[in-house]
Amino acid sequence: MTIAKIFLLATCIAVASDPIYHIITTLFSKWRRNYKPRSLIDVLCQRYNIPPSSKNVHKVIFFPDTGLPCRRFLSGHACKDPRCYGVHHETSLTVLLSVINSCLHSLDVCVYMITCSSLGNALIECHERGVPVRVITDERNSGEEGEMTGCQIGKLRAAGINVRCHSSSFWMHHKFLVADIEVLVNGSFNWTNQAVMGNFENLMITSDKDLVHPYVEEFQRLWEKFEPKEVVVD
Ligand SMILES: [Zn+2]
Repeated sequence: MTIAKIFLLATCIAVASDPIYHIITTLFSKWRRNYKPRSLIDVLCQRYNIPPSSKNVHKVIFFPDTGLPCRRFLSGHACKDPRCYGVHHETSLTVLLSVINSCLHSLDVCVYMITCSSLGNALIECHERGVPVRVITDERNSGEEGEMTGCQIGKLRAAGINVRCHSSSFWMHHKFLVADIEVLVNGSFNWTNQAVMGNFENLMITSDKDLVHPYVEEFQRLWEKFEPKEVVVD
């Protein structure tokens, strides 16, 4: 290639680079404006093999599981550790975790007790993804009235998650969550390792608006009711 041809090629590239850059940035910003992340319902429909046309999620899961899931399996990686004692297939807990992990906009959790670290970690990861997470629990199980084995509440608060507690002689005995104001998970399941691996428990996952909406309202009512009182010093 002669010097003249090299010079001509360099000139062409220099002249064309501005329009090409402009076209690429225009196309990119147009794609970004039109891009809509898939909704939680879409994600769960795909995961549970529900036809996307149904636009509704209805699923029931039962416990106990045969064990806790392997952390590598949970993060979508192959586990090659022959000494790993975690479970490497879908379980009822991984189905519950899939709701938390797929949450995009908000997560409201109202449960009597949280001592299962897999669920505690999933809430923290959700919070770290930028999803607002709110937790209501019973004060007896918040770890504030003394050490409680495996209690996750201190860990959640340390991570920056908003936790409010119910304090009275009666129990805050709910076990439900609402994800993205469109999916409800409700049942007998306490968020403990004993419930995962020992107890006979059930959970219903639904996006039926007639069921989800009352839980959205009840969570908000309890959230306001359990707002910490300001301490007035004389
Ligand atoms: Zn493993």
